[in-house]
Amino acid sequence: MTLIDGKKLSETIKQEIAQEVEAIQKAGGKTPHLAAVLVGEDPASQAYVRSKVKSCEQVGFQSTLIRRDASISEQELLDIVTQLNEDPSIDGFIVQLPLPKHIDENKVILAIDPRKDVDGFHPVNFGRMAQGLPCFIPATPFGILQMLERYEIPTSGKHCVVLGRSNIVGTPISILLSRKAKVGDCTVTLTHSRTKDLPAEVRRADILVAAIGIPEFVKGDWVKEGVVVIDVGINRVDDPTAKNGYRLVGDVDFEEVAPKSSFITPVPGGVGLMTVTSLLLNTLKAAKKEIYP
Ligand code: NAD
Repeated sequence: MTLIDGKKLSETIKQEIAQEVEAIQKAGGKTPHLAAVLVGEDPASQAYVRSKVKSCEQVGFQSTLIRRDASISEQELLDIVTQLNEDPSIDGFIVQLPLPKHIDENKVILAIDPRKDVDGFHPVNFGRMAQGLPCFIPATPFGILQMLERYEIPTSGKHCVVLGRSNIVGTPISILLSRKAKVGDCTVTLTHSRTKDLPAEVRRADILVAAIGIPEFVKGDWVKEGVVVIDVGINRVDDPTAKNGYRLVGDVDFEEVAPKSSFITPVPGGVGLMTVTSLLLNTLKAAKKEIYP
């Protein structure tokens, strides 16, 4: 069993990005600039945004954090999006989700200029992704592709089972892995809460991507020997022995599944770190106008 080390891989990729930033600056180019909009006080969202800003510093990007109270109106938030769209100093930006209930997330995503949509959530980028055209790939699926590529895990002709059909993980990774591409050419089964006999579906997987948000849901007897496991889940479970009273676990029962796997991502230290790094990669692409010349 090989552990797919998201920490080490994300450090390597960050070093590569930092070198590119240095080269751009030496050539007199503009430093890539990512902005993040954070609405409200949700602790998980605050932690994600903090880590995104810190990662920008690590690679030499400029970053701007725009914080607003949860009481902000939808129109005020849309106005911020318009300002960011029009600001030539900003290469890409994200609006951290989830947003307070009185704000329509879809409306906000639609307002983002696809050329600056480094989260890859805008339907223009999503549609381009589905058609295999240049696009910003959503950060978590992009991170998964990087892991498969850099660990040289063969995907062509493999059966991939995806658990969960969210717009940010399950659905896009199922599209990406079925596409004709270096990391792709899989036969994909996308499963969800209405799937009948989930363990039987999972047992057919050469590659399993678990993204449902239920702690240690996938058990050892659900997987076949040699399976490649990408565990996207980040779930808090109570742990009185831990400093803060909880620990993080994935959607896969690591103790049971790891011994049967050929490759597996740990939680924490797996996909989560690659998600932030992929956002940096997208920002670099935006700054270099690689997707939309
Ligand atoms: P979500 O919560 O939006 O959707 C969950 C999906 O799982 C749905 O499609 C639902 O149909 C499916 N599902 C729920 N219960 C099921 C069941 N019993 N059987 C089969 N399918 C079931 O999903 P999400 O936003 O993709 O998040 C999934 C997990 O991944 C969460 O733990 C989240 O914290 C984590 N996550 C991690 C990263 C990262 O960077 N590692 C990024 C995004 C999400």
